[in-house]
Amino acid sequence: DQSEVTDLKEFARARNIRYFMVSYTDLFGGQRAKLVPAQAISDMQKDGAGFAGFATWLDLTPAHPDMLAVPDPLSVIQLPWRPEVAWLASDCLMEGKGVAQAPRNTLKRLVAEAAKEGMRVKTGVEPEFFLTTPDGNQIADEYDTAAKSCYDQQAVMRRFDVIAEICDAMLDLGWKPYQNDHEDANGQFEMNWEYDDVLQTADKHSFFKFMVRSIAEKHGLRATFMPKPFQGLTGSGCHAHISVWDLAGKSNAFADKNMELGLSEKGRYFLGGIMKHASALAAICNPTVNSYKRINAPRTVSGATWAPNTVTWTGNNRTHMVRVPGPGRFELRLPDGAANPYLMQAIIIAAGLSGIRTKADPGPRSDVDMYREGHTVTHGAKLPLNLLDALRAYDEDSELKAAMGEEFSAAYIKLKHQEWNSYASHFTQWERDHTLDV
Ligand code: GLU
Ligand code: MG
Ligand code: MG
Repeated sequence: DQSEVTDLKEFARARNIRYFMVSYTDLFGGQRAKLVPAQAISDMQKDGAGFAGFATWLDLTPAHPDMLAVPDPLSVIQLPWRPEVAWLASDCLMEGKGVAQAPRNTLKRLVAEAAKEGMRVKTGVEPEFFLTTPDGNQIADEYDTAAKSCYDQQAVMRRFDVIAEICDAMLDLGWKPYQNDHEDANGQFEMNWEYDDVLQTADKHSFFKFMVRSIAEKHGLRATFMPKPFQGLTGSGCHAHISVWDLAGKSNAFADKNMELGLSEKGRYFLGGIMKHASALAAICNPTVNSYKRINAPRTVSGATWAPNTVTWTGNNRTHMVRVPGPGRFELRLPDGAANPYLMQAIIIAAGLSGIRTKADPGPRSDVDMYREGHTVTHGAKLPLNLLDALRAYDEDSELKAAMGEEFSAAYIKLKHQEWNSYASHFTQWERDHTLDV
């Protein structure tokens, strides 16, 4: 049981591990690591592995001292496809202090905030991904061309070697995976495992992306979590299922069978916070330029993309931003494959705590088909149309910015604005096609 691991050197000896991958996640969701031989891990466990500040993508300058990634032994995972190596999620330190803007540090702070209020957040994530050719330009399976490809039995079987290897790995790791399918787009898949405490889920989510990419590469493929890799096909979401428990983790504070859809008053307030802060949430849950091609293109050849474009909630209906599929939890359908595993959970908690504190009303629920009858819903705001609008919404949301941490917020907004500016200054063929003869 990895929750009992304290001495990494001992862990290495017992399992024949030769190397540790001391990893942390940057502000863009990228994972960066040092490969440390097992003999040297005890010092690293104490002092951390050093990274040049500027290259950490945590908004540090070339003049900053080294950032130290201190591995959390509770996160250790022996790579199922390469058992001589074990992966570790790290906390980021500089000169003895936590780096406030580092994503895992940010999430840990919000977990502690929730704990102060007697709340233990549990989440499940549902990352979707495409399997493509190594250059990323095409769906890898030439046969996978059906217009209605959701749950395609033939197509999922053609990828059995890859899917089963990943699923077997999750079984061995004790993650309790329970289903795998071919999703709505050609070449798109989803694999589900059981929900857990939010920090554990975020660590597993990070590792899952690393594992899916690695095992896909082993099979000569590329796996991508890009939100909308192919125009005209459904994009890749990363839904989060959220519930809040007592500190012992025994009783679900979101469950109340006497309330609408079995969602307790606390659950409604938490949801109210998500609804109220949705535009700012998009800046984190939909963090790339490409993200907005997913949430603002509701229809595809197959008829629907299952991605939201309006701030609305509902019962068991996949056309809204929030779905309450059953009692005691809700599903936030906003996040996409590019969302940072730590930051998406952190901002969900930040918005939820704000909702509980202010007793936020989630507003009326709507049960229409948003793709065909969305125009009849007059109360739901539209989600941001692009990354710039989302960043502005985040920048204007002083409550949420403070809850995420001022240092974090400033760093994130700055780096993401740079990304937007780089995109905005890029000249495209679209402009030529639409402007040449004007
Ligand atoms: N691929 C859809 C999205 O972009 C979700 C499909 C589903 O409901 O699983 O969110
Ligand atoms: Mg799905
Ligand atoms: Mg889902």
